[in-house]
Amino acid sequence: MPHPRQERFAVVDPATGEAFDEAPDRRTDELDAVVGRAREAWAGWRADPGARTAALLASADAVEAAGGELAPLLTREQGKPLAESYAEIARTAARLRHFAAMAPETRTINDGRPVHSEIRWRSLGPVAAIVPWNFPLQLASAKFAPALAAGNTVVLKPSPFTPLATRLLGSVLSAALPEGVLTVITGREPLGALLASHPGIRHVTFTGSVPTGRAVAAGAAPGLARVTLELGGNDAAVLLDDVEVEAVADRLFRAAFRNCGQVCMAVKRVYAPARLHARVVEALAERAKTVVVGSGLDPGTELGPVNNAAQLARVERYTARALEEGARAAAGGHRLDRPGYFYAPTILTDVPLDSAVVMEEQFGPVLPVLPYGRLDEAVEAANATRYGLGGSVWGTDLDRAEEVAGRLECGTAWINHHAELSLDQPFAGIKDSGVGVAGGPWGLYGNLRPFVVHRPMEGGL
Ligand code: NAD
Repeated sequence: MPHPRQERFAVVDPATGEAFDEAPDRRTDELDAVVGRAREAWAGWRADPGARTAALLASADAVEAAGGELAPLLTREQGKPLAESYAEIARTAARLRHFAAMAPETRTINDGRPVHSEIRWRSLGPVAAIVPWNFPLQLASAKFAPALAAGNTVVLKPSPFTPLATRLLGSVLSAALPEGVLTVITGREPLGALLASHPGIRHVTFTGSVPTGRAVAAGAAPGLARVTLELGGNDAAVLLDDVEVEAVADRLFRAAFRNCGQVCMAVKRVYAPARLHARVVEALAERAKTVVVGSGLDPGTELGPVNNAAQLARVERYTARALEEGARAAAGGHRLDRPGYFYAPTILTDVPLDSAVVMEEQFGPVLPVLPYGRLDEAVEAANATRYGLGGSVWGTDLDRAEEVAGRLECGTAWINHHAELSLDQPFAGIKDSGVGVAGGPWGLYGNLRPFVVHRPMEGGL
């Protein structure tokens, strides 16, 4: 007999390690009704593009107006500094506006036959959006904004580590959207698995880890629902021999440690020319030792805690193993001796090239800096993991940097910065980093299906 499920679960503040609130643990047998309501709401929502645009614009205004309530709640459950929570909310509103203004293009085919062929675009139906805990609102909006703009309805499931700001967002949006168009549903597993495999869902759009992504794809397969997977990353930054170490050190550090390193496309490995390696380690270690770590609610905080106990244990495991293998911590290398899930910002040197902390995604405030001899070796090492989300090249000669960037096997490559995304760009990881394309018009079309009508011309056929 399965255990009866409790009706609520605790939400922990990672800055204290203490539960501070709880969220509904929705029973999986409630899913049929939720998906059923999303299906009923679809008919009205897909019928009127003008009303959709107006509702999405009103949604963006509502999100902005609720920033003062959303931001502290997001920081409390996620850990990030308050300013970053506000930035996440601004991005959520911007994304709603971006997609509100977008419509698919109807095209005609003129191939010489006496037929007028028109390509139109239709929505898919209820979409399941399943997201992780690192950017709960921003990543959710990357899913629901294009899905809703395309005329679908959405059932959104946040991570059980960060359900509260998303629930509040859901109620803020419910004032601007018709009933059933967007439903936020919180709960522990197997809620996500059952949502991903629900026969009423026509597109599962998932952001999270590679193993869960595989489970989601397998769950969606029997119903042949479309699947979009935005998965993990292990981005490399390749420094060229003409890089100005001091000039780029702040940017490189932020690209690795923002949100406590819990960014899918954070810099997770640095390859530095052997001649510059010691200087790079020193410059990054200096920043790691002086960056202000604390509760995201404290105004001076630059880095918050790791989001949850399991993630902290994972970071500790990867680092301890690297240290056992002969690595040295030029900064950090340990938990902070205080309540909550704090880990000292860590710069690792003398790390074996094939150490797990280099080859896998540790997803925390830890950065290995690896020396290379020939540039080809650095590019080969950068491409040698199972991931292919992003990558960057840093140097003074921009043409040379661009040539090297073109050799990186990933979806987005940056020069002299990292992880800056335009709302208008396609976002698509390769290898284990994902399937499908999000962002810009590609994100909209990812939520649509083509419908083609062939009609004979007057006197034709
Ligand atoms: P996770 O895979 O553990 O969980 C993601 C979501 O899936 C959560 O809502 C979780 O509750 C749910 N889930 C868990 N098991 C499920 C199942 N069997 N079926 C369906 N849903 C299930 O990931 P996480 O630890 O929350 O997030 C960290 C990961 O997310 C990292 O690997 C990170 O790189 C990745 N990520 C990727 C991107 C991107 O755009 N590529 C962005 C942010 C984070």
